[in-house]
Amino acid sequence: MPTARPPEDATTLDALRRAAASCTGCDLYKRATQTVFGEGNPHASLMLLGEQPGHEEDLAGRPFVGPAGRLLDKALVQAGLDRRQVYVTNIVKHFKWKAKEGGKRRIHEKPGRNEVEACRPWFDKEFWLVQPEVLVCLGATAAAAVFGPAARVGTSRGRELSSPQGVRAFVTVHPSAILRIPKDAERAAEMRRFVADLRRAALAARRPSRATRVSRGPATPRRGPSRAPSRD
Ligand code: SF4
Repeated sequence: MPTARPPEDATTLDALRRAAASCTGCDLYKRATQTVFGEGNPHASLMLLGEQPGHEEDLAGRPFVGPAGRLLDKALVQAGLDRRQVYVTNIVKHFKWKAKEGGKRRIHEKPGRNEVEACRPWFDKEFWLVQPEVLVCLGATAAAAVFGPAARVGTSRGRELSSPQGVRAFVTVHPSAILRIPKDAERAAEMRRFVADLRRAALAARRPSRATRVSRGPATPRRGPSRAPSRD
């Protein structure tokens, strides 16, 4: 199966981002505008992992800048976090879409497991470079990518988990799922749960360092200075 092949000499996020810009590891690059790589604090203690870029992210070349991203920003603030303190990325770096209304609108299409697996090497290396203390999976695709296909948001949510990379992890909904809730009261309630999930992750990220290190990627992971996000 074709797959992304991050260059071994890409030892910074900028170098990795540049390399990912020309990735042809699966077919998704053919219909997308550009690679949408992760961004944020390169020394973040908290990493947020989503599914894939959407329409606006595809055009902007940045993750979580569309409606779901704006909701995420709001939730982060309510959870006592500043988006500039965290690192935000997706497990799939190109926008997968289908045409609607005679081809005028591009609608999100869920990436397949083969595409997730093809793109995973970028995330693995991003993770190794950032070395977060805590990983938050936003939605089912991210949760399955980290914990395996049996992972479920409903049963994993609200608990501190241990990721296969050896860091503390949390699973919650993708912010786009909140946007799709039609009733205001239910949407507001789900937003409160989402904020509570993020707050739990933020508190975990403030706790002293982990005992284990990332198991994937090259040896001798780089560590930054103290990186726990402040809730103040
Ligand atoms: S989705 Fe990932 S693996 Fe596929 S072309 Fe884009 S960057 Fe490469």
